Amino acid sequence: MATTKVSPKLFIDKRRQQVLFAEADKKFVDFLFSIFTLPVGAVMSLLKEGGGTVGCLPSLYQSIEDMSVTHIKPDKSKRFLLEPKVMLCPKVPLLLPNIGSTFRQLYRCSNSNKYNTCINYVTDEDSTICPYCELKMNRIVTFIDPPSTIRESSTTKDGYVKGTVIYMVMDNLEVKPLSTTTLVSLFAKFNVMNIGDIEEKVVDVGMDEGVKLLEASLRSKTVLTDVFLPVENIKTEDSIDTTERYPAE
Ligand SMILES: [Zn+2]
Repeated sequence: MATTKVSPKLFIDKRRQQVLFAEADKKFVDFLFSIFTLPVGAVMSLLKEGGGTVGCLPSLYQSIEDMSVTHIKPDKSKRFLLEPKVMLCPKVPLLLPNIGSTFRQLYRCSNSNKYNTCINYVTDEDSTICPYCELKMNRIVTFIDPPSTIRESSTTKDGYVKGTVIYMVMDNLEVKPLSTTTLVSLFAKFNVMNIGDIEEKVVDVGMDEGVKLLEASLRSKTVLTDVFLPVENIKTEDSIDTTERYPAE
């Protein structure tokens, strides 16, 4: 899996220094949707260094890290919980570190052709001992996607959403196809009178931004603004009234 360049275009309300929405293609939307395929352990593992999580999950995660292996069952590993393997949809942009390297691989023992019972066992941990013949399970098994009734080209099979549409990602990560009607009501909601009040800015989203987007999505309703227009970067001479930045719904 290779890193894909993802470059949504932000539409920024210059007066409030707030991202109104991002115009995005399929790649950015596929990345956002893929957040739901991540096990909580993988999310915690990605965010623990920045301390970017709320609630009790960090202390629960730390408890597992700190627990002596003498208290863990001998057939289990703490890695199963702390670094769970991820089953990603093919060709979703790789915008989170260490996720691709933990792509789930399945294994069987080499007796799977010989004994019917061995065929019943499959593992995602290389060299686990087969419960029937007690050989190492290190023969790679190929996962086959369910057959589709639609003949797909290689590009339409990738990711989750169709690539023929331009999408609109709101500051709170609401995603919808871009339409003039939505744009008009959005500008009305934010009291944008003049198109000159809007700044367009294309941003590159790499792994740093991927982790920041994931982190902000867990705590904020203004994710794009938080990640791409952090408050410390706003010049003081702009004298932004922060109560005006996020108007009440
Ligand atoms: Zn076996």
